[in-house]
This record gives sequence, C-alpha cells and structure tokens, in this order.
Amino acid sequence: MSSEGKISWNFLKNVSDTLDSYRIRALIDAKNEILKAGLYDESVFYEILFKMFDEELLKYRFLEFLKYKKDHDFKTIEQFANDQRMEISKVLGLLELLRNENLVIIHELCDTIKGDDKEPSRSVFKGLKIEVIDGDFSKIKPVYEPVKVIFDSKQCSGCGICAGICPVKCIEINNGFGKIDEQKCLRCGLCYLACPRSFFPKRLMRMIQDNASSIKEYESFGPFIEAHAARTKIPSIAESCQDGGISSTCLYHLIESKKVDLALGAKMSSDPWRPEPSIMETTDDIIKSAGTKYVNNPNLILMNDNQIKGKTIAVVGVPCQMQALLKSQLYNIGIPALNCVKYRIGIFCMESFPYEEGFRKICEKLNVPLTEVKKTDINKGKFFIYKKSGEELNIPIKDISYLARMDCEFCYDLTSESADISVGSIGAPSGWNMVIIRTQKGKELFNELLKKKLIESKDIDDVKPGLPMLAKIANIKQNKCIKHVNSIKESNKRYPNY
Ligand code: SF4
Ligand code: SF4
Ligand code: SF4
Repeated sequence: MSSEGKISWNFLKNVSDTLDSYRIRALIDAKNEILKAGLYDESVFYEILFKMFDEELLKYRFLEFLKYKKDHDFKTIEQFANDQRMEISKVLGLLELLRNENLVIIHELCDTIKGDDKEPSRSVFKGLKIEVIDGDFSKIKPVYEPVKVIFDSKQCSGCGICAGICPVKCIEINNGFGKIDEQKCLRCGLCYLACPRSFFPKRLMRMIQDNASSIKEYESFGPFIEAHAARTKIPSIAESCQDGGISSTCLYHLIESKKVDLALGAKMSSDPWRPEPSIMETTDDIIKSAGTKYVNNPNLILMNDNQIKGKTIAVVGVPCQMQALLKSQLYNIGIPALNCVKYRIGIFCMESFPYEEGFRKICEKLNVPLTEVKKTDINKGKFFIYKKSGEELNIPIKDISYLARMDCEFCYDLTSESADISVGSIGAPSGWNMVIIRTQKGKELFNELLKKKLIESKDIDDVKPGLPMLAKIANIKQNKCIKHVNSIKESNKRYPNY
C-alpha cells in the first residue's frame, strides 16, 4: 500500500471511530429531541455537531499518532502540533481528553519541594511521559458522563455553565445546587466537557493564559502581564461599588463604547441580598448591579438566553465561572453563546455562601435583618456588614467558614486566573482595587479606561501591602485546596482532576 493509501486508510478509520463515538452518536440520535427542546435550531444543531465531530476526529487522529510507539514525551506533543499546524496547548487539551477516557496515562515528571506543617509538599513540573494503554481502541467506547457525578460528589461550584449549554435543558440549578432530569439526559457529555470540576488541567490553562509554548511554574495567583491598583472615576459607580469599582467600570465602558452588546453578571433579586443572574444592556443596568455579592450565583445559566443569541457579551464572574469559560474555549464545542464571549472580567473569591444556609445565618449571628443591610465586605480576615443606619458590624471569617459552600474547598483559584482581567481588594489600599491584567485583550481594555479618564491608577510598586499580600493569600487558598484534594484522594473518593 502506498503511503498516500495508508494515510487515507487511517483517515477513514479515524472518521469511522469518530462516527462511532458515543458523543457524536448521542447528538445524531437525539436530533429531534434537541430541536424540540427549543434551545438550538437546525442550523445551530449542525454547527455543534460538526464542531464536535471535528474535535473528536482530531482526538482519534492524535490517538492513532500515539499508537505507533508505546511511550512518548513532550517532543511527541510538539511533533503532532507541528504536523497538524496546531498550538501545543490544543494538543495538550486532546491529551487530557484521552486521559479522561482512560486511553492514555500521563506521568507528570516533577521535582517535589517538601512541605512542612504550614505548607503542603509542592511539585515543580519537569516534563511528561505519556503511556498509551494496551488494547483494541475500536472496542473502547466511552459513554460520556453528565455532571450528575459532580453534583453527587458535592463538588459542584454552582457556576451554571452546564445548565446554560445542555441541549435538552435537563439541568436545573436551584439555590446554588444542581439536579439532572435523567429521563431527558442524552449522555452527550457536553456539560462534563465544559464543567470546571470534571477536569481542569491547571498547568495547561495557565499556559494558555500566558500564551506560552511550554509548561512553566507561575506565582500563586497565576500568569499576568501587569498589575495595578486602580479605582473608578465614575461617581455613580463609586457610590455603590465595593472597593474601587473597576469591574463595573470595565462593563460600563464596554457597553458605552459598543465593544460588546451585553454584559452578563449578577444583580440583586426582589429577595433582599439574594443575587440572581442578570443580562445588562445599558450603562444604567451596570450601575444598578454594582457591588460585590458574596452569595453564590449561577450567572452562566443565562449563556443560552434568547437575549444573548447573535450578540457579543462581556461576562463578569468568580474564578470558577472564568474557568468554565476558558475551558469551553479550549474545547470548542460549537455552542454559539460561548463564541459570543468577548471579555472575561474575573473577580477575586475566597469562598462563597449559599443564601439560606449561609448569608442569612451570618446576618442572624450579627442580629441584622436582611432588609437593614446596606453593604457587605470581606477584609482583613473579617466579614463586615454595614447597616443602613450607618452602624458597622463584623465577625471573623474563621467563625463563619463552616457556613460557606463545601465545594469551595475544592477551589484553588483566588484571583480568577482564567479571566482577561481580574479585580479584587486584596493587596490594594482601602477604596481601591487590585487589578491583575492577564491577556492582551485585558491590557487594551485597561489602557482604554485610563485614556478615557474613567479610572485612575497607581504604580503597583508604590502600593502597600501590594502583590506580596496577594501572593500570600492566594498561596493559603491554593495550599488549603491541595490538602483537601489530597485527603479526598486518600479516601478513594472522586476528586476534581486539576
Ligand atoms: S445533562 Fe449533560 S450529558 Fe445530559 S444531555 Fe445535558 S449536556 Fe448532555
Ligand atoms: S461546577 Fe458548574 S458546570 Fe460543573 S456541575 Fe456545577 S454548575 Fe455544572
Ligand atoms: S471559592 Fe471558587 S468555587 Fe467557590 S464560588 Fe469562589 S470561585 Fe467558585
């Protein structure tokens, strides 16, 4: 057989494997149910199907490429990326899929930096060894899991993306916790693919954010281009915002300058202090929604709202939501709403509280009726409530940590590493924000805010306590997460694969 013949044969075999893939079959077989659910019309359905097909085909081609040898290292990744004219990060993404489907084993070669009572042991990446599992691949047909496994293991962060993209709308998130209608579920696995808690290859995601071509180690708050302290100069935002008002100012500018059509975030519902997902269309909407909400809110369930269709959006959210969006970008699953996301504005998040069992109880502890709360804040290890009467109350975070969502213990990310621009108060002087610029897009946005005099900023070297404080707190959160995940691993329970 000529080499051309071989390539054609392999290609046909890969196409056949792809068509046989459960993920593709589930979509094809359920075409009528999907169209009936009304979220996607026929043209969008085909768009998703063909994108999924391309991704699956690429995965099988990579597997075929790996099969010719038993063991591989990073050079194989580079070689496949060169052959296919693909980014190395994309090939690493395919490798993660193969690992998740138990078709390869990835051994990360690391140097271990031994820990002590304060710091758990850490590993520093040196290289990869990839082992291809023996066996007849054509007989291995993974069934793609829905995120039920994430709900059942109490690891769901409540980001909402699964409910936002499910083609048959069979996921509900109520009070921050999800449920699947198993009668309706197709087992297409789209939700699992997008979920930040199914698997989230942290090193790869950091590499993507850094636009790097190799895996590196980064600060505990992830890769960044620049950092600043900044605050808004828009008076109406300054009045209602938490600290420097930078996330609201970003949205305000993006809407006003028509760089995006809509913003997706949270606003207060008619229940006092219970946030709800919100699509904002005007600068007035942005001003009304300004201010941090410490109650968990599944903003991303609105990803497929009719209002968003065909529009460009900026999303503001917590780290787990930024992770879901970045992961969906790596695994391009063809869902139009995900391609509409032009900016990711991340906010810092140490932990979040459920409304009923968390935030309401904190108010009860401080003896403040919810209707009397004017503003809330977390600062210097304390949770503050400012009453409408002007009175200020606080409670140490350690005394209310047990009220936070349990799943937040699985969260290593304090600073929204997966955002274009991350905003929070840690490290910044009172009334200012710490702003971490992660991508070129984030940098352009920040520079526009400065140029239009919508914000003022300080050189980060002049800011106290500044980045060392941010690194310290980010490290504390990261270490807490590592310890928690390690303890879950030891008890042989499911854990998020970071
Ligand atoms: S719940 Fe998940 S697996 Fe089931 S149909 Fe929806 S997206 Fe697909
Ligand atoms: S973490 Fe997000 S995507 Fe995953 S199950 Fe929870 S709500 Fe769904
Ligand atoms: S701590 Fe992490 S998981 Fe919890 S709400 Fe914040 S970002 Fe999401």
